[in-house]
Amino acid sequence: MPELFQIFQSAPLAFVGACAVLGTMVGSFLNVVIHRLPKMMELGWQQQCAELCDAADTGGARELPRGSGPHDSGGEPALAPTYNLIVPRSACPHCNHAISAWENIPIVSYLLLRGKCKGCGAAISPRYPIIEATSGILCGFAAWHFGFGLAAAGALLLIWALLALTAIDFDTQLLPDDITLPLLWAGLLFNLSGTFTNLHGAVLGAVFGYLALWGVFWLFKLATGKEGMGYGDFKLLAALGAWLGWQMLPLIIILSSLVGAVVGVSLIVASRHGRNIPIPFGPYLAGGGLIALFWGTALTQNYLRLLAAP
Ligand SMILES: [Zn+2]
Repeated sequence: MPELFQIFQSAPLAFVGACAVLGTMVGSFLNVVIHRLPKMMELGWQQQCAELCDAADTGGARELPRGSGPHDSGGEPALAPTYNLIVPRSACPHCNHAISAWENIPIVSYLLLRGKCKGCGAAISPRYPIIEATSGILCGFAAWHFGFGLAAAGALLLIWALLALTAIDFDTQLLPDDITLPLLWAGLLFNLSGTFTNLHGAVLGAVFGYLALWGVFWLFKLATGKEGMGYGDFKLLAALGAWLGWQMLPLIIILSSLVGAVVGVSLIVASRHGRNIPIPFGPYLAGGGLIALFWGTALTQNYLRLLAAP
């Protein structure tokens, strides 16, 4: 392992290539997360509802008949098949054809299979290779931008989390706590040693990131009676604040609002996308966060220089 580190340190291109390949492989796993995590959350909610209804039906004070101890209290689905990020194995949603290792090589398999299931010939969504390629390109770029070190490792983690959140929010208008909250803690941890900002900036970034959108949410709600965004958005901006520091929050908000406004208006114009259909804000926050990760310091410094110019 230390030899490998030395190679990466002395040959930046090898590091870039390795991170790009790693990016496509993790991208393949992100596809699983994007597909399954919302379903896992839904199953969890159904289970909780069922337990609540059960408890209400019987007066609530009944001894639960299942399990042998207090640690088994999650136990209703003794019958339900296991469903998590590992089990069951990936299969074609049309014909249930189990996907073998060689059909699961990022990007390459999609091209070899010409985008079709080997079992039934049904089209495979191009989204899978797109996520894999995006992850690979962003990870390679992060490796080139930061060079071998802790900052590159952090950037890779942040990229993966933001990619998963973007796609899940796009699909379901949800930003799962299972991703946003660990992302926030991870940002604080990386900045213990000042990887992206100092700890002071990171803690304030997390607090102000949450409060900024929380404030916007309530102002908007009091003014219009509508809810413009969700609590997941507050947590995502809090996480970005923890990673990049409070100094980056204005830039992230401006960038994401700009892109969000442009995309939102063009969607409404182009496809008569109903004005009342919620447009997820998470993808724009994630995009703003990524731009701030790579060019935030340069952008804010140039901006401040413009302001200071006579
Ligand atoms: Zn199939």
